[in-house]
Amino acid sequence: MTAIVPIQQGTLQLAAMHLRGGGLVAMPTETVYGLACNAANPDAVVRLYEAKGRPRFNPLIAHVASMEMAEQEAVFSPLAREIAAKFWPGPLTMVLPVASTGTVSDIARAGLDTIALRMPAHPGARALIETFGKPLVAPSANRSGHISPTTAQHVKEDLDGKVDLILDGGPCERGIESTIVSFVGEHPVLLRAGALETSVLNDALGGTLAVRGDEDGISAPGQLKSHYAPNARVRLDAEAPEPGEGWLAFGETPWPGLNLSETGDLREAAKTLFAALRTLDASHDRIAVAPVPNDGLGEAINDRLARAAHRD
Ligand code: AMP
Ligand code: MG
Repeated sequence: MTAIVPIQQGTLQLAAMHLRGGGLVAMPTETVYGLACNAANPDAVVRLYEAKGRPRFNPLIAHVASMEMAEQEAVFSPLAREIAAKFWPGPLTMVLPVASTGTVSDIARAGLDTIALRMPAHPGARALIETFGKPLVAPSANRSGHISPTTAQHVKEDLDGKVDLILDGGPCERGIESTIVSFVGEHPVLLRAGALETSVLNDALGGTLAVRGDEDGISAPGQLKSHYAPNARVRLDAEAPEPGEGWLAFGETPWPGLNLSETGDLREAAKTLFAALRTLDASHDRIAVAPVPNDGLGEAINDRLARAAHRD
């Protein structure tokens, strides 16, 4: 049994002690709950991959609490530095060349000479990184391929007994993973749509953001087609539920079920998406999802829904 404890001075110290011993601690972030360990400790990182059942070719995001910590790990171009200053702390992950002073273990980077970095905005996550004093790698705190956790209880459902401690910071504010952009090549490339709207990022980049294509040779190793997946079959762009289907609505609807946002608010929909999928999954074998517009946060929501619906 893994304990769920509220974030306070004492529990932060306890969590940092587990981390120093090579343990695993689940922590809230503004995107989803993360499963954190000492990024510099290869044994801890291996334990983390095993706890999640995550394939080793899928590199982890290292979380930092300051620019000083970030610049020790990665090489920032002037543009990358400008973007970090604008969007950090926040739901943006930057893929950058590894610095010669970097401490993040090879295994966490899946052997790449690049590193994914993020400075989370959640005060609990920040406090944990600061208390520990070094970067923490933290993929989502769920079984690999399953629905991402947005509450401490979700973490327990997936990883009870496999992690040393779960820090409870309440439901996640954004509810969807970070946007990932690569600054490794000549132009910035979007690797994953996420909680920072692509258009906002592109505007800050003066319209130079490219979207990952198979031809550009930049790999995003973790972008598997089936991910965020419930056990239930998911049918997208449904006009109405069929008999036996759980109904996930968006906006006004005559059918009973759950609603991502009755007012059609994409921010609210992102925040409720994963919890709603978990709830419907517990009661239904099939889930029908209403169409969600593809603008703004809808891009990231539809990306997650498409992967939830994909069957290999
Ligand atoms: P997750 O922690 O599950 O949200 O996934 C992190 C994502 O970051 C993975 O899907 C990877 O595709 C991506 N990522 C991490 N490190 C790198 C890297 N060095 N280059 C490209 N993508 C990366
Ligand atoms: Mg994940």
